[in-house]
Amino acid sequence: MPVVVIHGGAGSRSADLKTCRKDYLQALSVALERAATLLEQGGAAIDAVQAAVMVMEDECDLLNAGRGSVLCRDGTIEMSAAVMRGDDRGAGAVAAVTRSRHPVLAARAVLDHTPHVLMVGARADAVAAAAGVAQREPEYFITARRRARLDDLPSDFAGGTVGAVCRDATGSLAAATSTGGRQGQLPGRIGDSPLPGAGTWADEHVAISCTGDGEEFIRSGVARHISALVAAGTPIAAAADAALAQVGELGGTGGVIAVDAGGQVALRFTTEAMPRGMRRGANISTWLL
Ligand code: ASP
Repeated sequence: MPVVVIHGGAGSRSADLKTCRKDYLQALSVALERAATLLEQGGAAIDAVQAAVMVMEDECDLLNAGRGSVLCRDGTIEMSAAVMRGDDRGAGAVAAVTRSRHPVLAARAVLDHTPHVLMVGARADAVAAAAGVAQREPEYFITARRRARLDDLPSDFAGGTVGAVCRDATGSLAAATSTGGRQGQLPGRIGDSPLPGAGTWADEHVAISCTGDGEEFIRSGVARHISALVAAGTPIAAAADAALAQVGELGGTGGVIAVDAGGQVALRFTTEAMPRGMRRGANISTWLL
């Protein structure tokens, strides 16, 4: 039975979560349905995670990916994303892109159309454009609400990064993550999300997408840590908790979603909230706190 798990970023129990509760839950459900449709149409796990992330990238202001991403300190937006396929560890990622309408599609373009794993900035957008990924002017991604937020809270940990993991009916695994990074970050800063082994990972054992304090996730090698534990026989939830504990030792918080080859899942976080959802067969569950 196929399993899809998604997250909308680890963060605080913000006022938004309360006032926009229905919108969050609706967005999560739509993303899960879109992934399921792809699988029903014969898509692979990587197509399903890409589809789910695209829906969440389209959620302006609610989620921190694609249009409506958080702003860097200078008021610009730099977006990053990664996709990874478990069967052959095929990985594609982009960092600090400013024009690709769906950064997750730009990551997929790097995987499908280049011999590389991670590309950055304008050159990454150009690869995406050549592969047919829609492009927009950088201003398109900036919303009035995010600009007002930057003025109020210059370095807020807004959360809202998005991610998806999937085990398809054939047992193949895939992961995808997309983010605008941290509000108020220095332009040029890259977090864990586009880095295979840190914020995103898929191999034959497990698929993982992370969210949280990117620097501490990078320094802990969170996703690869979880995969090594799972490969050695640790149950997936215990593996996720162990990796989050290491992040905690470095002073960071966050969350992970993961699915293993047997279809076991983990949705773990050390923050107050992490919008998240799961679809197993036809059953959908969604949560905020
Ligand atoms: N991990 C992301 C980053 O550091 C942020 C997040 O998940 O909220 O860029």
